[in-house]
Amino acid sequence: MAGVSSAPGGAAAGRRARVAVMYSITGGIFIHFGHHVRGHEGPCISLHGHTWKFEVALAAERLDAQGFVIDFDVLHARVLERCHLLLDHSLAIGAPTWEETHKDLASLGEKLVGSRVAMLGNLGKLQPALDGELCGARNERPGGIKVAVFPFTPTSERLAQWLYDVSDKTVADERVRIAAARVYESLHPTELYAEYRPK
Ligand SMILES: [Zn+2]
Repeated sequence: MAGVSSAPGGAAAGRRARVAVMYSITGGIFIHFGHHVRGHEGPCISLHGHTWKFEVALAAERLDAQGFVIDFDVLHARVLERCHLLLDHSLAIGAPTWEETHKDLASLGEKLVGSRVAMLGNLGKLQPALDGELCGARNERPGGIKVAVFPFTPTSERLAQWLYDVSDKTVADERVRIAAARVYESLHPTELYAEYRPK
């Protein structure tokens, strides 16, 4: 480019602003689950499902001894796979909805899972689920169906904040910080996601 010196220490280099360098990595996982948005004035009042994508971006100013921000396997094991175990093929609801509906869900679940007896001759196996809690979220099995109960109504925005908190508690340290957590509610035909990140 005419007039711009590429020589180290040239006039252009002398004017160049100092830029803080940051490494980042991003990992994500697709999860199929349904939800209900308590009190929603639109269609999310109905039980309905999405193919969600949970995505976490991590950042660090320096790499670890292996040359990683963190090993992708660590992000998967501590965050993404646990989210998948909690939510895969579940109904995600908030705690107030659980309190209001768990007896009805148990009755419904017994009928739904009971259909296996007619079709297969037995009740079959329970779906894999999370042991204990993950940042306040837990699995319940009313009548044998899988429900994920959150301490909030599970909108994309709230789930993104929760995903950020899960990541912050399990993979952040004095070197690695959570740059952003994204929850995609839809990828096709339109892309819709909520993001939670530090200012
Ligand atoms: Zn929805």
